[in-house]
Amino acid sequence: MSVPSESTSLTEPGPVPHPSEPVEQLYAELEAKIREYRPKDDLAVLQNAFRFASKYHEGQTRDSGEPYMVHPVMVAHILADMRMDVVAMETGLLHDVVEDTSVTVEQVRKEFGPEVARCVDGVTKLTKLDVFSAEDRQAESVRKMLLAMVEDIRVILVKLADRIHNMRTLGYLSPERRERIARETIEIYAPIAHRLGMGKVRGELEDLAFQHLEPDAYQEILGAIESKRHSNEEFLAEIRLTVESELRREGIPARIDGRLKRPYSVFQKLRRQKISLDQVYDLMALRILTDSVKNCYAALGVIHNKWRPIPGRIKDFIAIPRPNLYQSLHTSVVGPHGQTFEVQIRTEEMHRIAEEGIAAHWKYKEGRKGPAADDQRIAWLRHLVEWQREVQDPGEFMSTLKVDLYPEEAYTFTPRGKVIVLPRDATPIDFAYAIHSDVGSTCVGAKVNGRIVPLRSSLRNGDIVEIMTQPGHEPSKDWLAFVKTSRARNKIKHLINAGERVKAIEIGQKYLEKEARRLGVQLSKVTKADMERVAGEYGLSKMEDLHAALGYGKFSARQVLSKIAPGVVKEEVAEPRPAPVADNAAPSAAPGAKRADGDGVIKVRGLDDLMVYRAKCCNPIRGEAIVGYVTRGKGVAVHARMCPNVQSLLYDVERKIEVEWARAAEDSFPVRIVIHTDDRPGMLNQLTSVLSAENTNIRSLEAKGETDHDGGVVEMTVDVRDKKQLEKLVAAMRRISGVRDVERLFN
Ligand code: MN
Repeated sequence: MSVPSESTSLTEPGPVPHPSEPVEQLYAELEAKIREYRPKDDLAVLQNAFRFASKYHEGQTRDSGEPYMVHPVMVAHILADMRMDVVAMETGLLHDVVEDTSVTVEQVRKEFGPEVARCVDGVTKLTKLDVFSAEDRQAESVRKMLLAMVEDIRVILVKLADRIHNMRTLGYLSPERRERIARETIEIYAPIAHRLGMGKVRGELEDLAFQHLEPDAYQEILGAIESKRHSNEEFLAEIRLTVESELRREGIPARIDGRLKRPYSVFQKLRRQKISLDQVYDLMALRILTDSVKNCYAALGVIHNKWRPIPGRIKDFIAIPRPNLYQSLHTSVVGPHGQTFEVQIRTEEMHRIAEEGIAAHWKYKEGRKGPAADDQRIAWLRHLVEWQREVQDPGEFMSTLKVDLYPEEAYTFTPRGKVIVLPRDATPIDFAYAIHSDVGSTCVGAKVNGRIVPLRSSLRNGDIVEIMTQPGHEPSKDWLAFVKTSRARNKIKHLINAGERVKAIEIGQKYLEKEARRLGVQLSKVTKADMERVAGEYGLSKMEDLHAALGYGKFSARQVLSKIAPGVVKEEVAEPRPAPVADNAAPSAAPGAKRADGDGVIKVRGLDDLMVYRAKCCNPIRGEAIVGYVTRGKGVAVHARMCPNVQSLLYDVERKIEVEWARAAEDSFPVRIVIHTDDRPGMLNQLTSVLSAENTNIRSLEAKGETDHDGGVVEMTVDVRDKKQLEKLVAAMRRISGVRDVERLFN
């Protein structure tokens, strides 16, 4: 009969059941533990953190009924076991105060400085994410996101310590919460520990989670290990003796460690190889720790000399380390009684890295002066993940301990915890389209972390985004100016084009009917076949396409009618005219097409008979660089190339059209000008005399005092021939003493 070796005697005096004392005691043990490896550190700051956290967690209890402070102190203990620095342990003690008490990050900064505040803030942010359970396929995104959110690698170490303690005390929670936390642990936190090379932490997290997630499988494996324990241990002892003497004879110094495999790694093996438990022979593994790489290979030779290696099972992670810097030689051999077992061979240094990973850096920092430790940590971060960016200056980079592992991406959430990965600086519109194109198109607003934000604002890592929609709402052209994903851009364009097409068809149809009436063509008598033949002449397959083309202003209704009823409507003779669109044949009655002033002074290169008008937003004048844009049903809008609207209008290159100023037209262009002046007598006179010297007509003029300055404002509309004349005028006005500024108004 076996008696658990760690059971306590009933006669031993238990701790005094005063709620605050065990915590004090735990804390005293923490300090003692730290003194062992950091004898010189001043622990007054840690003491402060303990008092501070105790004060604010006062009265709170854990699900186990213990005082809440037991948890942070135990987290600090786990960090002390990792031999972390004092900042990490202060963070451990304070890690829940912002989340669970009235304390703010600002307060932590005041009391404990910026470094601790930054770490506590980081842990708090990660803790907030705990409310989400990741779907399987998202686990990798969540892992990346967690790493992406961490600015100081100690934040992740504190979070892992927090998770270890929560997992150790999981039994007190409801089955649902237990399952959720265990799943998150195995999907998110254990792999992160693995990435960071922390084999020991990963192993503990996996086995604890496995125990809760698959209790039956866990018990079965544990039972199998237990039932064979005796024979396995005997076997291991025998092997161990043999290996020891063989290695001694070869002069290879070694520490040999026989062990049973962890339950979860056995479970994975069963699943991976689709075998049952009684088919697993190598529940045991032997670990040989030696002093040098040379001796690792020498020891491998000794093992293979003694027992037959299983082909394909020899792995050299020394020559090619794993991405998490794990180094070791692995082999499986057939032992004395036909029993297979695994042997791992590595140096003591490699072993330390395999067990502690990135935390190893802090552990020996004190003893080792020089760059070795930092180099190692840089190597960690380099290998951490698919590291894309070149680190410019590793020294500076490490001194701040800042990491930005995924500079290109922003990891954001739906309110229900689904991760949406977007490019950095993506907007709520991109987010909405990433969910579904209907959500994107009917988006009318967005909340980020519970607050309403403008749709053009940038999303950041960890943002929880809620999209507000309204059925029937349509995407706005303005969105194109700020969306970052091509998915959103394409969907918006597509919808806008589709919407415009519907309108263009309607306009085109009315326009054709109106022109037909004016020119005496009876459309009702034209057969559908004839209509389609005409459409075909324009390279269009349907009547609808022809209507749309008319609506877009691609050709005139008269042209189309001359093909439909050649006997009634004459096709115009194509000959160069100075002002083509000013011709009577131009469709002056197209719906929505007002003959804007400026018609006839601009021509569309290569195409006649298009309605052209100067856009009101920028009111271009002769001499300015211009660009044309085929509108729906209103012909060609001509903008100044500098017009701010041009950028957003011309997203659709197909509708851009080349235009130029028609030659020799004697038109003039009304331009609105604002002149800011000192308020002094005679100013108006001087201004008007400049204008008359230039022979410029003034259409209107208004002068008023400026209320908030001691100056005056003159607003006028003048007729100019072209850009040159306008520039000359403005320059002349600016030369008048007392004129502060001259501005052109655009609408
Ligand atoms: Mn916690």
